[in-house]
Amino acid sequence: MTTIRLHNTKSRKKEDFVPIDPQNVRMYVCGPTVYDRAHLGNARPVLVFDILYRLLRHVYGENSVTYVRNFTDVDDKINARAAATGRPIRDITDETIGWYHDDMDSLGAMRPDQEPRATEWIGAMITMIEELIAKGHAYEKEGHVLFRVRSYENYGALSGRSVDDMIAGARVEVAPFKEDPMDFVLWKPSDVKTPGWGSPWGYGRPGWHIECSAMSYELLGASFDIHGGGNDLQFPHHENEIAQSCCAHPEGGFANYWLHNEMLQVEGKKMSKSLGNFFTVRDLLEQGIPGEVVRLVMLGTHYGKPMDWTEKKRAEAEQTLRNWRNLTADVVAGEVDPELVDTLADDLNTAGAIARLHVLAKGDAATFKASALFMGFLTDELGEWAAGVDLTAYADKLAAIRAEAMETKDFSAVDAMKKALMDAGVEVRMSKAGVELLPGAGFDAAKLEGL
Ligand code: AMP
Ligand code: ZN
Repeated sequence: MTTIRLHNTKSRKKEDFVPIDPQNVRMYVCGPTVYDRAHLGNARPVLVFDILYRLLRHVYGENSVTYVRNFTDVDDKINARAAATGRPIRDITDETIGWYHDDMDSLGAMRPDQEPRATEWIGAMITMIEELIAKGHAYEKEGHVLFRVRSYENYGALSGRSVDDMIAGARVEVAPFKEDPMDFVLWKPSDVKTPGWGSPWGYGRPGWHIECSAMSYELLGASFDIHGGGNDLQFPHHENEIAQSCCAHPEGGFANYWLHNEMLQVEGKKMSKSLGNFFTVRDLLEQGIPGEVVRLVMLGTHYGKPMDWTEKKRAEAEQTLRNWRNLTADVVAGEVDPELVDTLADDLNTAGAIARLHVLAKGDAATFKASALFMGFLTDELGEWAAGVDLTAYADKLAAIRAEAMETKDFSAVDAMKKALMDAGVEVRMSKAGVELLPGAGFDAAKLEGL
């Protein structure tokens, strides 16, 4: 059996992956807060953990992996959106979850086995908070329940920081009801306008961190294999999850392997609204950039390194996929290449696996197609953009105009049509034998209208 090796944030080392139960390999990934369209950065963990999910299913069996990713549908940003628009919260979160599914499906990401919504697990969160209070790890003050950070001696072990360093470095909220500035909220009161639930501590709502601890416990147990998310979640979110889970369930070890993806940038800069380089996955899809192209660009960089989205990479990926689709149009997939699997098994070396696909593209087409499909490329679902571009009519028309120009010696109409085709991303090849048109990088069928 293939040995998967993963860089574990917990040990800061690459380790052999040994599941607790190979019949049921369990992975939890922190999902989105649902109040707006997912931006391109949000797609990175989705694609990274999609590859890990595919690899685990390949190695342990399709029915031997449980992948859970949550939806945070209770959050102050959602409340603010509801207040600003006058819309009910549930409308906003339902709509955003629908968008998220559409957008991530368009990138070829498989849906996790379970996608719990925080608001449907409030009871489990209350139970966990009660256990933490009973064990002396949490306390109630003025309608708030706080986690007593100093009561958990391993706090900070994941990100490798001591509590005192964290206090010095972080902008921790000092509130009168806190025993210690590091203590964080498990439960907080809601007023009548804010969503809330009845609890032993009054009408209120959970803090953010407790949802992942409670839902992972309910769905995966006190010990499971892999916990993932973006680097930005290491502290405080993941430290707090560990503290809550290990204190409420000291019989378990929570997650054995922690994986964190690095951040996405755009043309070498942080993606942000103020820099004007912020875009959503939907923005790209609406510009006609195929989801499959986004997938190839994203996976071209190892998850542990910052990933730079550039126009150059986009154009190259589109050309690559067009070629690959041409090569495999009528090919029946064979067996997945073992060397490609081994490459991915080495800490998800997606860049290496894509390099291997380039090699395989020159060899046996059946192996190549199976290997590409395994990585989520060249599927029928993602193939609409490359299908059915029949440029014959345009080639015939250009040939006719050229024949006429040969007579009149006025080539302006030929040049105009050639330019229009090239502007639409079509590669124009003219020779004595005839006219050949090929859809190239950035091909946009819409621009052919009227030609
Ligand atoms: P959020 O909805 O902001 O909690 O983010 C959902 C997921 O996207 C988390 O796993 C984040 O770590 C991840 N994420 C957010 N921004 C970026 C980014 N620029 N690059 C990569 N991952 C990101
Ligand atoms: Zn989480």
